[in-house]
Formats: sequence, structure tokens, C-alpha cells
Amino acid sequence: MASGQSWKEKYLQELESADNREQEWKAERNTLERMLVRTSLASEGQTPELDRLLARVRKDLRKKKVNVDAWRELQEQIDRQVTLLDERPSSADRGRQEEAPSSDFVSHQNESAVPGDERDIEDNTQRLRIARRVGQLLGQMLNQVTLEPAAETRARGLQQVLLSSNDWKVLREGLNHVAELVIAAITRSQREFEAFLKRLDERLEVLREHFSDQSSAQSGRLDATESLDREIREGLERVGLDIQASDDLQELKQSVSRHLESIGDAVGRFHVQETEREKALSEQLAAMQEKIAAMEAHSEQMQGQVLRERQRAMTDLLTQLPNREAWQERLSFECNRWQRYQHPLTIGLLDIDYFKRVNDSYGHKAGDRVLQLIARELRERLRNTDFIARYGGEEFVLLFPETSPEDAQAVMDKLRHHISNLPFHFSGEPVMVTFSVGLAGFAPGDSEDSVFERSDRALYLAKDGGRNCVQIDAGAPDQ
Ligand code: GH3
Ligand code: MG
Ligand code: MG
Repeated sequence: MASGQSWKEKYLQELESADNREQEWKAERNTLERMLVRTSLASEGQTPELDRLLARVRKDLRKKKVNVDAWRELQEQIDRQVTLLDERPSSADRGRQEEAPSSDFVSHQNESAVPGDERDIEDNTQRLRIARRVGQLLGQMLNQVTLEPAAETRARGLQQVLLSSNDWKVLREGLNHVAELVIAAITRSQREFEAFLKRLDERLEVLREHFSDQSSAQSGRLDATESLDREIREGLERVGLDIQASDDLQELKQSVSRHLESIGDAVGRFHVQETEREKALSEQLAAMQEKIAAMEAHSEQMQGQVLRERQRAMTDLLTQLPNREAWQERLSFECNRWQRYQHPLTIGLLDIDYFKRVNDSYGHKAGDRVLQLIARELRERLRNTDFIARYGGEEFVLLFPETSPEDAQAVMDKLRHHISNLPFHFSGEPVMVTFSVGLAGFAPGDSEDSVFERSDRALYLAKDGGRNCVQIDAGAPDQ
């Protein structure tokens, strides 16, 4: 997975440079913290409240965890205390001033320092020393850290003030600004760190979305992708939690690497599972195809068998002509067509003349042979579209689609001549075989039965008229 390699590398690079930045601001922060501790120690002894606030500053610094909002409030409290100190009237009694030496002392120093008050002078000197020291520390700090240009200019100006000014008011302002600068620097570092985490989080989110998109796009792999997606999502959630909980970039780097590795493992496992699943599926598919092929063959075989059996059930064994069942089916079919299209349709009933005599004279087998022979002649000499069936005994039924009774009569007369001229020989004797036919054409109002009955009537007429002839039923269908 080449793309996986590149995003992983990108994260590692990102972590590496973030790590370097972190080292820088850690050093920066250390210096500032140390400076702040010293400044707060140096500022002690003004009032118990201010001492308490400064102690809190040091305590917070020791905890290595700065709550910016709390510190803003702290700063405001310190400001208030300092203002209170400033607002103390210069005429305040000395006793109080001795309890808590006021910074006012310094501010008056230029104009109204009381000569001879050695203690005041000592205080003043000490404060100036502190201011100079802070100025030096600020200089060192500025050499070590990179500030935004505006802040840098301001800090350099402050440094100058702290190093050169003797005006305590100006110096005090300057010290306040140093505190603000320290807080600003810490806040900036925190913001950078937060921005880094945000970027990391966004990138991981993109990665997570990528995986969930992939999984939803491939619906056929639901189970495996769902578990992969879950593993990745959980992995990313754990990274997210670690990011929130951690303020140690080194630790965070290791944790993110660990999670990325476990995500990589999950992807690897997914691929193995997928390959196995695909293999199993293709085997299953092959087996199913085989089964289907076997089933198709079997089904074809069965269909053939059914067809053959049906054929057998519809065929007369002796003559191999369609039997009475087949006749009924075909009659209904042609009758429906006639009802729809009203094309001519003629039905014929054929009966061998004096067939009983053949049986009686030459035996039943001879009779069978006559039946077979006549069946063959009928099949061969009639049109393919005509339908012939053995109705029973020595009777045959005929259907002539698209044919009037007169045309059918012409055809059957020809056939009758042909059969009567066939040289049948039984026991060495020539025997003439003839048949009689009754024909009836479908007419309005006819049904299958009514036409059949009329053809039967015509056959009766043919027999009655001397046999070996073809008769058409002239009557209208029975209403
Ligand atoms: P007609 O001219 O009036 O039709 O006289 P016929 O003798 O043909 O008619 P009849 O109904 O009196 O006799 C039919 C005979 O056909 C009786 C029966 O033995 C014979 N027969 C019916 N089915 C078969 C068969 O499958 N094979 C043989 N050999 N004879 C059959
Ligand atoms: Mg008969
Ligand atoms: Mg007969």
C-alpha cells in the first residue's frame, strides 16, 4: 500500500518538526518561568495578600501546568494589589510603611527622597538592582527565543528601560510588562501546540473518512470492512483521546506512532482476510457452477423424458399415429383458431370398409397390417399441416386446416383411389381394401362436438351409399 507509506511518513515528519518546535518553546518557557520565580521572590514583602498571590504564581509554575484564564485573573489580582500599594498616600504614617515598604518610595525617590533615610535608600538600591537583573534576564531570554517582531521591539524597549531608568514608576511599569510578556509567550506556545494538535487531528480525521468511504463503497465485503472500519475508528479515537490528555509531545509522538502501526496492522489483517474470503468465494462459485451445470443437464434429461413420455401417451402404438387424446388437443387448438380467424376448417371421419371380414378371413395380424399400411399412406400423402389420428379400431379422424370440405373431398377421393389400387395379398390372394369418409366443414355456430357429429353423419351416409366413397355433410350445424 504505497499511499499508506507516504501518509505515515508525512505524519512522522510532522511529528519530528513539531518535536523540534516543542524543544525550543520548552527552553523558552523554562527561562521565563525561572525569571518569573525570581521576580516574584524579589517582589515579596510588600503585603501579605501580594505575597500570597506571588506564592500562587510560583506554585503554579512548579506544577508545570498553566491555566491561562486562571493566570489572567491572577495577574489582575496582582495588578490590583500593586495599584493599592501605589495609591497609599505619601503622608501615610511611617510605621505602616515600615511594615510594608511601599513602591511609592521609589517613585518619589527622584523628587523627594528623604536624605538621611538610609533604609529607603537601601530599598531603592535593592529595587534598582532587581530591575537591572530583570533587564539582564530579559536580554538573555530575547537572545534565546524568537518572538513576533512587534513583541521583540517591545521587549527590547523594556530591556532598555529596566537597564537604564532610575524612575521607579517607569521601572515598575516595565516589570509589569515583563510579566505580561512572559504570559504572552507561554500563551503563544500553548496556541502553537494546540494548532499542531488540531492539524494532526484534522489529518487523522481525513484518514478515518477515507477508510469509511472505502468501506461503504464496497458493499460486498460488509463484515470484514465493518470490522476494519471499527478497528481504525477506535484506533483514531484512542489517538484523539491521547492527544487531548497529553501535553508531552514526545509521549504523544510515540502514542501516535503506535496507533498508526496498529491501524496498519488492521489494514494488513483486512487484506489477508479479504484474500481468504475471495478464495473461498471463488471456490464456492466454482462448486455452484458445477452444481448448476449438473442440474441443467439433469433438467434437460428430465424434460426429454417428459417429452418422450408425453409423446408416447399421445401416440397410438400400432400405427404410430397420434391417438385420441392427441386428437382432442389438436381439435381444440384448431377450433380456437377457426373461431378467431374464421378460415376454412374441415373435419373428416374415415372408417375401413368391411374390416371385420379381413380379420375374420385372414386373421387379426393381417388386420393390424392393413391398419398400419393405411396409416402410413395417410401420413405420407396428406399435407404436413393436415392432422391424422387413429380414433379407435379401424377408424381414423382427419383435420384439414385452410381447406373447404369440397377440397378435402377431392384429396380424400384421390387417396381412396390410391388405397383401393394397392395390391394387398393375404394367404396368396389379392384383397382390395377400401374406406369411407364423412366430411364436415366448420360453420357459424359450430362446436367441436357438433362438427364431429356432422362428419359422423356424413360417414354414415357414405356407408349407407355403398361404401368406398367420400361424403360431405350438407346440413347446417344443429342450433
Ligand atoms: P363397416 O364397413 O360397416 O365399417 O364394417 P366393418 O366390418 O369395418 O365394421 P365393424 O364395426 O363391424 O367391425 C370393425 C372391426 O374392426 C371389429 C374389430 O374386430 C376390428 N378391429 C378393431 N380394432 C382392431 C385392431 O386394432 N386390429 C384389428 N386387427 N382389428 C380391429
Ligand atoms: Mg368402424
Ligand atoms: Mg369399418
